[in-house]
Formats: sequence, C-alpha cells, structure tokens
Amino acid sequence: MKESDKKFWLYIEPDVYCNIKDNKLFLYKTKNNTVIENTSSEIISLIQSLYEKHNLGAVYFDGENLKNTIFSDFIDEFCRKQMGNIVDTRFVTKKPIQLMPVLNLQHDIEKNKDSVGEGILSYLTEVNLYINQVCLVNCHFCNDYYRQNLCCTKKNEKDEISSVNTLKKLLEQIKYSPVSKLNILGGNILQHPYIKNFIPALSDFKEFTYLWIHYKNIVIHKGDFYDFKYVIPVTFPIDKTSFTNCISLMKDKQVSYHFFITNKNEYHQLEQLTTENEIKDYKISPFYTKNNQAFFEENIYLNKEDIFVERIPFRKIFAHQKLNTISFGSLTIMPDGNVYANVNSPVIGNIKTDSILCLIDKEMRINTAWRKIRNKKPCNDCSYQYLCPSPSNYELAIGKPNLCHVKP
Ligand code: SF4
Ligand code: SF4
Repeated sequence: MKESDKKFWLYIEPDVYCNIKDNKLFLYKTKNNTVIENTSSEIISLIQSLYEKHNLGAVYFDGENLKNTIFSDFIDEFCRKQMGNIVDTRFVTKKPIQLMPVLNLQHDIEKNKDSVGEGILSYLTEVNLYINQVCLVNCHFCNDYYRQNLCCTKKNEKDEISSVNTLKKLLEQIKYSPVSKLNILGGNILQHPYIKNFIPALSDFKEFTYLWIHYKNIVIHKGDFYDFKYVIPVTFPIDKTSFTNCISLMKDKQVSYHFFITNKNEYHQLEQLTTENEIKDYKISPFYTKNNQAFFEENIYLNKEDIFVERIPFRKIFAHQKLNTISFGSLTIMPDGNVYANVNSPVIGNIKTDSILCLIDKEMRINTAWRKIRNKKPCNDCSYQYLCPSPSNYELAIGKPNLCHVKP
C-alpha cells in the first residue's frame, strides 16, 4: 500500500516549543536543540490545528497530502528531528493524546503578585550590600562599572555607611530565605570604620558570603585577611606589580577574580595574566564605555547560532515569558539604606524603614526590574523572543532594546 493511500495520526511531542509570528512557523525541540522554520501557510495551519485545545496535540492526517512536497518535506524533517510522528491509523486506531506543557511556574508571578505572604521570601536568592563608598583607588569608570555588572563603586562618595545593626537586621530577615549569595561591597570595605564588628556578625552566613575587594585595595591593606570567600574586581589598565602582589597575599584564600574588559587587547592581557599566574577561578565582564560599540557588536551581540549554542530547556523558555532571569531574586542595598531591584532602576524602599518582605512585595507589584521581559519591539516580533536571554544592564547602558544581529 502506498503511503499516499494510508490514513495517519499526526502528533507533536510535548517537549516542542512552537511560535508563529509574521506568517513564520518556528518549532524548537527542547530535548535535542533542533529547529524547524517554515513559512508555508498549509504547514502553519497544520501545526496550529495540533495546538487547538480539543485536539490535544494530535490530528488526523490524510496520506493523500504526502503527494504534495510541501507536506512530505515538512513531515520528513519533523519526524527526523523527533518533533513528532505520523502513525498509521490501521495500527493505532485510537487518536493519540499528548499532554501539552502549559506555563505554570511553581509560583505563578502574575497570580501571586497581589498577595503579600511570607512565601514571597522564597523569591529572594541574592543580596548585594554596599557598606561604604570610600576608596583610595581611582578607576576611570568607577561610577559605571557597577551599573553593568556587580562591582565596587564610590559613586556618591558620601560619608554614609551601613551600620552593623542594619546588617544584623538584614541577616535576621534572610536567615530562612533561599539566599545563596550575600555580596559585601564598598568602596573599599576594609576602610569601613566598624569592619571588625561587621565580620563576626557574618560568621553564621560564611558559606554564602563574598567579600568584594579590588586588587589594588588588597595590596594597600596588606594585613591579615578574614577567613571568607573573596571576589576581586580587576580593572584596566592593570598594574602588574600590584596584581602579582595581590595574588601572593591571597594565595591561601578562596578567591575569584572578575576582569572588566573593554577591548580585545585587554582580553589578551587577561588571558596572559591568568595563564602566567595559573588563575583558574575567574570571570570576564565586558564593560561598555560608550566608545567600544564595535567590540560589543563583535563579541557580545547575539547571532542566530549563539542563541542555540546550548540546549534551552522548556523551563527556561517559560521563565523568560514571566520574569527577568538576570535580575529576578536579587536586591541591592546602598550604604544609605536605599534598596534597588536593579541599580539602574528606581529605588523601591529603604532597609532602615521597610522589611525585606515589604520590599519584595513592592517589587512584585510595581516591577522596576524583576519582571522586565522581551515584550517590546523588535523582540516581540521575533520568533526567538523567549529563547534569548532576558534583557540585561548592557541593553540599558547601550540604550537599545536588543543586542543582536538578528533584528539590528
Ligand atoms: S576600586 Fe572600586 S570603588 Fe575604588 S575606584 Fe576602583 S571601582 Fe571605584
Ligand atoms: S530581536 Fe530580540 S528576541 Fe530576536 S534575536 Fe534579537 S534579542 Fe533575541
């Protein structure tokens, strides 16, 4: 019997993400990272019918259609990429049923955003506490590094400092939260007048506390360092002597180096430094200076291939539809007590007067940052809208809604 004489059930696998925009079909198999794109109106109608509620991911498909290459080529690719299958109705008499995934985050943000409850504390995963803004180093971009990636800053250079009481009050409130990172930053935190009282207060949170001290401040301080985890920002130009001194002073500590680079030459320098000094734990944070657009376009902007360089789980695609996966769960507290869901967004309250629960609740309601998603042009016209990473601080620094070559 010829295929065209047969009758089939056509079904789609539940791990396939589907997006139809501008008469373009985009299918993404989340389990094997494969893609189908098709612009034929017949194919779009066929796939749309699979998603009609009563069809439950399966429809009757007449083999006669396979005489048409539009259908036969598509079905061939669809089955080959394991996005679904066609089965002969003589052998499978009952229509198959597929349980299609629905957006149902563990805590549905939209549903919960109007109700205050202790449960919302579970959203909090990271706290960045700036305890002072005094520092003797003079990095050229001190006022801006921290706006793109976490870094020390003396932007306001006010005398304002966080008190030990503020810290204790904060720790009391987050002790039963899932916070897995408590970053302590300055200025130079070692210049905080009560640093010796701060550190013991943190001892119960040692596992997830990170002390941020610029490599030049490590060298200025020279003395004994507390037994904590350290993050060491490294900005360019690098003073090689200070940097190697810093490595030697911190050799027995748990340290991660964060390099802020603005061009290719700095990238090569950091490669050399990390190799020469056998630095294994480091992170590279590109920094937008307003004059290195070409560097960003070449190295940071996404191409279509970059989007699919790693498999994207369904859970991530769903998360991108509801929340900003970069900012969500993080609060930043400045030395004056002002609290931000993102340092580029308006202040949401003050730790001296507002509880952490109230601050989370407020952010959930007014959404200064945690729920900023790709729902604006040109991303909302793009097939890859929720596969791309959430909008980041780079978009804000560069002043563009998307950093990609797909829809420039
Ligand atoms: S070390 Fe940090 S706080 Fe000091 S000038 Fe540099 S970026 Fe600013
Ligand atoms: S336009 Fe937006 S959604 Fe589309 S690829 Fe670019 S960044 Fe991603």
